[in-house]
Amino acid sequence: MSSRLTFKYRIYPTKKQTALLESTLSYCTELYNAALQERRDAWRINRESINFAGQSAQLVEIKEVRSELNGIYSQVLQDTLHRVDKTFKAFFQRVKRKTKAGFPRFRSRVRYNSFTYPQLGFSLSGNKLSLSKIGKVKIKLHRETTGKIKTLTIKREAGRWYACLSVEGMAKPLPVSVKSIGVDVGLTAFATLSDGTEVENPRHYRIAQAKLRRAQRKVARRSIRSHRRRKAVQLLQRAHAHVRNQRSDFHHKISQWLVANYGRIAVEDLNIKGLAAGCLAREVNDAGWSAFLEHVAYKAENAGRDLVKVDPRGTSQTCLCGAHTPKTLSQRWHQCLACGLSANRDHVSAQLILFRAGIPPSSVNASH
Ligand SMILES: [Zn+2]
Repeated sequence: MSSRLTFKYRIYPTKKQTALLESTLSYCTELYNAALQERRDAWRINRESINFAGQSAQLVEIKEVRSELNGIYSQVLQDTLHRVDKTFKAFFQRVKRKTKAGFPRFRSRVRYNSFTYPQLGFSLSGNKLSLSKIGKVKIKLHRETTGKIKTLTIKREAGRWYACLSVEGMAKPLPVSVKSIGVDVGLTAFATLSDGTEVENPRHYRIAQAKLRRAQRKVARRSIRSHRRRKAVQLLQRAHAHVRNQRSDFHHKISQWLVANYGRIAVEDLNIKGLAAGCLAREVNDAGWSAFLEHVAYKAENAGRDLVKVDPRGTSQTCLCGAHTPKTLSQRWHQCLACGLSANRDHVSAQLILFRAGIPPSSVNASH
């Protein structure tokens, strides 16, 4: 299985281009709903299921009747049908598993916010993104993409437009590195490395979070269905998008740096269940951590780096000497009564993670 990663960039369409993007979205919504309707009817009336090929073949006829659809790149329309197909496949799987199978639902124009060029019809050159049937749109490439671009999704988010490039593989192979590092994702620092480096949560996180809370309070104060509430909701959506984008940028940066500098990277395997159950902070953070670790895994794989996922159980409760060193969440210092090791708790955890990845503690200590 090859892994993919998405790079998201803001685009700045002109007024005319914005109108084209908006109309593409609304035709895609219409097509999505029509395809859904056809499948729903077939299923409800005859218990018959229509497949993607069947619907896709109809596109030619539909275009004859609805000439407006010729103004939309054909693969974008195909992809819309693919989305319906995916929704239905998921539905039938739920039916099969006998879990609660909510029927696929129609999408409203305001909630249908993206369309995809699955293969062709777009190209990137300098600060211009060429979109078939739309034109050359200005794009802000604030970070280099690494790898081969596979698909492009255009997204509308709180009144702004973005290009999401899904890439595969890495363009430049990295020089060989024999250095190893253990990474402990934590609650106070974002991550602590086995060499003692602390990667802080960026300050702008907290600023953005505070903005988000203010925006939330504002929405709550406005009366329902008022114009001012709609305005406040848009501000809130923007604040959310801002936080998401910042987080993703931060993940990109840190993972890129790790992979560039280390040949072997040891992390906790967050998929192993039974982590400190009931610890809310940890559960909330898990989502962010797994997104970050996905970045690391993708980049490590493509750069030929060794990523080792270790059993996370007890990494904060065990000393490098093997002694059990119980701590509560608020105890930030590790003090081992057996061997006398006294250090920052997350630093010890990161070293233990590296140890579990097969690097013995002697060489861990020697690296200081
Ligand atoms: Zn010890």
